[in-house]
Amino acid sequence: MSDFFYVSTRGTAPHATLSEAIARGLAAYGGLYVPNRLPTVDRAALKPLSGLPALAHTALQGFFAGDRLQPLLGEIAEAALDLPAPTTAIANSRHALFVLELFHGPTAAFKDFGARFLAQGLQRLETAAAPQLTILVATSGDTGGAVAAAFHRRPWARVVILYPKGLVSPRQEQQLTCWGGNVASLRVDGTFDDCQRLVKEAFVDASLNRRYRFSSANSINIGRLLPQMVYYIASSLEIEQRTGSRANFIIPAGNLGNAFAAVWARALGLPIDRIILAHNANRTVPDYLQTGEWRPRPSIATLASAMDVGNPSNMERLRALYPTLEALRGQLGAESVDDAAIRARIREDYRRYGREWCPHTATAAEVYSRLPEKERSARPWVLVATAHPAKFNEIVEPLLGKTIDVPESLALLLRLPQELTDIEPNLTALAGALG
Ligand SMILES: *Cc1c(COP(=O)(O)O)cnc(C)c1O
Repeated sequence: MSDFFYVSTRGTAPHATLSEAIARGLAAYGGLYVPNRLPTVDRAALKPLSGLPALAHTALQGFFAGDRLQPLLGEIAEAALDLPAPTTAIANSRHALFVLELFHGPTAAFKDFGARFLAQGLQRLETAAAPQLTILVATSGDTGGAVAAAFHRRPWARVVILYPKGLVSPRQEQQLTCWGGNVASLRVDGTFDDCQRLVKEAFVDASLNRRYRFSSANSINIGRLLPQMVYYIASSLEIEQRTGSRANFIIPAGNLGNAFAAVWARALGLPIDRIILAHNANRTVPDYLQTGEWRPRPSIATLASAMDVGNPSNMERLRALYPTLEALRGQLGAESVDDAAIRARIREDYRRYGREWCPHTATAAEVYSRLPEKERSARPWVLVATAHPAKFNEIVEPLLGKTIDVPESLALLLRLPQELTDIEPNLTALAGALG
């Protein structure tokens, strides 16, 4: 084995190649895969490149080093990341303020990037003789749709989506249940944390593992995290070029997959300065940074439902990178934004900037507005827009008193019929639904 490989955040699991880490999703004993050391990236080589596929091909080389997917990285990136991710300026802001728009993919949320990259990677690891892969995915709203879109009509896989009943938006639910074919949608009588727990239980259940070949597509899969670095690379290089300064990101955060990708991009040496996590009323991470006490708790339902996570999985990866509280505090800020502030921010920024935010993006906009004036004027800030507001029309439209235009790709999905199965939040029910 080469000197570059993947290890588990719970050190006991055997080392893995990237392909193995992608295929397994979760490491043994519930750990998450991380590289044994951060690869280096040649920033000079990135400068002349444009477009996410080209940037991915160069920037992710080190993460693919020695792996059987390495020669295929170019075509994987080409197939998965050929999506727009523009960094747009807010014209009538007094300070340098930008929006990284991650909602132009087929399901109108940033999760399309990771899900598509993972599907392309897994497809190239499949052998004709292998039994069908069962991809279990717990979703707080957007993951399931993105994974379904990415794997739909790929006969080597079937996707089983678990989502919490009554806790996703109507249009999200439509995107979770409109596929048919190789996608099954399970509506769980519980919370997102129940869905996530069920997936974890299924993965370690001996009898289920004899019957099915499982893989995960949650943000714990390294195959989803890697491509998410690429839009931070593109955006930070663009900000540096436009403003001469390093970019500062405010990132709506739930399970911390998106934010972790930004942290990695910065650790690779990209021109990124501050990273602030914008959480909703699920304040596990902001409380931890403030008090030093890690207190995971049940998630509570908020308007920014895709961020309703009480025990963020990727914290384990952050801790692996920055083991002490002091180190972590030096790397990240975190704020909590409640529903009333989300509503007020959606109204205010439409009035002020003419911008329409989804409730998740609004948490980042709110955190920006709470920064001291000195901070806002000192450096360019980038709000990360994680979903299109049309996905959450039932929240946004009454606040703005207008209809939100629906992107064409989303409109297509909204016209399809729904298909779903209700289950109780226990492993027996899941096993039954797996057939
Ligand atoms: C999933 C999601 C988030 C949270 O992302 P994490 O990677 O889980 O932190 C934020 N906004 C939207 C719209 C999402 O779908």
